Amino acid sequence: MHSFADAIDIGAAEDGSLRTGQAAVWHDPSGRADLSAALQALEQGEFRPLAGAGSTGLRKGSYWSLFILRNTTDSSVPIHLEYVDHQLIRLQAFASASVDTPHFLELANLAMGESFARRPVFHNRFVVPVVLASGTSEAFLVRFDSEEVGFVFPSMRIWSPDALSKSHTGETAVLSFLFGGIALISLFSLIVGVTTREWSFFAYFVYGISKIVAWGTILGFTHQYVLPDGFHWSYMSAAGAVSILCGLVFDRLFLQTRKYTPRLDLILILMMVNAGVLLGSALLQIKAVALMSITFALLLYPAFTVIALVRWRQGSSEAVVFALGWTLLLAGLFYQALRDLGYVEHNLVNYYLPPLSSFIEMVTIMAAMGMKLRRLRLQGLESERQYRRHLEQSKVKLEGLVRARTEELEKAKQQAELEARTDPLTGIRNRRSFLSDAELCIKRAQRRGEPVSLLMFDIDHFKSINDNHGHGIGDEALRQFSVTIQRKIRETDVFGRLGGEEFALLITETRPDSLYTAERLRDNIAQIRLRCPEGCVQFTSSIGVAHGSTDESVETLLRQADHALYCAKERGRNMVVEYSEQSSSTAGSAETPLNPEPV
Ligand code: GH3
Ligand code: MG
Ligand code: MG
Repeated sequence: MHSFADAIDIGAAEDGSLRTGQAAVWHDPSGRADLSAALQALEQGEFRPLAGAGSTGLRKGSYWSLFILRNTTDSSVPIHLEYVDHQLIRLQAFASASVDTPHFLELANLAMGESFARRPVFHNRFVVPVVLASGTSEAFLVRFDSEEVGFVFPSMRIWSPDALSKSHTGETAVLSFLFGGIALISLFSLIVGVTTREWSFFAYFVYGISKIVAWGTILGFTHQYVLPDGFHWSYMSAAGAVSILCGLVFDRLFLQTRKYTPRLDLILILMMVNAGVLLGSALLQIKAVALMSITFALLLYPAFTVIALVRWRQGSSEAVVFALGWTLLLAGLFYQALRDLGYVEHNLVNYYLPPLSSFIEMVTIMAAMGMKLRRLRLQGLESERQYRRHLEQSKVKLEGLVRARTEELEKAKQQAELEARTDPLTGIRNRRSFLSDAELCIKRAQRRGEPVSLLMFDIDHFKSINDNHGHGIGDEALRQFSVTIQRKIRETDVFGRLGGEEFALLITETRPDSLYTAERLRDNIAQIRLRCPEGCVQFTSSIGVAHGSTDESVETLLRQADHALYCAKERGRNMVVEYSEQSSSTAGSAETPLNPEPV
């Protein structure tokens, strides 16, 4: 037996650094071999050194390990043999007091599915207590069973009971710190989610809680403290699957992959389907499928780092922090995978690396969430600023439009007023405008004690101009007539067209001056020459003049001037006739001929 396994010398203060040998290991692919079959294999020399660094890798069946412990001290030494991992389904230990002629007896038979209370030592991993008498050697045969397919570490750490208990307390404290941290971050995320209504924070909260449950279960604490009876390996896979699903939901929300990287998002959907398969196989307790989908999930995990970097290139600054956090988690998971597959020797560091990197990932991603929150706030401020600027611009534009429209309306109003006051053919006052302006002028003159005179014009034989030369020349005669008068009068004089070829002019002049003005204007009219195809057209105008005394109205003056005009026509046209008091008494009498004074 010595040829298979050298004895390991143990003392009273073992601190777990010594491990039982991996020098004599036998693989039973059927997983059904009992003690006698194992001893037979031992006889036939089938126990060999373990090929991998600590782990058997993924294999079917169970593993048997043989080792010898020797107590070289002079007192009996109690020892706790601790299995190095948490995921073993069954551990059976046999001991033989004699090394040379072995007679193995069952020492412990521990199973994951059994009540935690039945374990000889209260510890999250399997522990077999042993007492070695002073100066003796004892042989041990231990069977490690992963049920169906699974990796096994056919090795046990050697502890003195006190050291193991202290170490366990320390581990629990560290894990409590990590889990507490994750719980706090999750809670904080929940509060931020409630205040900001940003969905990724709620998802992060759920993700954090699912992580605590998953790691607590995978590391054996759920079995130890929460579900001491009837624990099953599928709980670990189910908790892991839920955590992966929650992580995927959070990551997709946080990185907004559906919107910004729709093709890469398909990988994440594939990962969600895979996590669903893992959950399903856990619930149906199909271990081989569960292991396959866990491996597949792990292989697809680097996609996240790639997607986060793509999102970073697209301008999401927090995505690079996310990529960092995720890569840290990946590093932890991959390092443990290397250990599980037997490429790296297992130790407490790589054993606890995944939960530790998971914690760091939580913290890092919280920082990324903070960055995202800040970016969202800045974006909010910026869009508010833009909105305000837009409002301001719209206001200025609107004010401009209103001003322009007001000006247009004002112009249109002035134009309409002008048109209402103006004769369209000659551009001078129309009858209505003349009457109101003349009224004002008379009142002003009366206030000042100034004299007023009203001159009424009627073009002579105007009808014949129309008849002989056409309406166009008639219109031109009317225009030239008003231009000629306008040129000769003052701005304060009131001139207007009463209708047809009749015009009126109100001037603030004394009687002789007004008669002189009338005569001068009559002469100017007679000077007008109109060019037409038939030659030169000229015409004359008769003028009736009335003078205002103290309280005459414009109507009275008009009537009086009209009388005088009538007389001018009667007397042969092209002359100025002044209305006199004498004629006024007979005004309106058809029988009595008027007697205005010719000038
Ligand atoms: P009298 O010397 O007695 O004033 O003769 P008359 O032909 O000037 O007088 P009458 O009142 O019979 O004719 C006025 C004519 O003026 C009649 C009308 O056709 C013409 N008339 C009125 N308004 C206009 C106008 O705006 N343009 C033109 N071309 N003719 C007009
Ligand atoms: Mg007339
Ligand atoms: Mg006339």
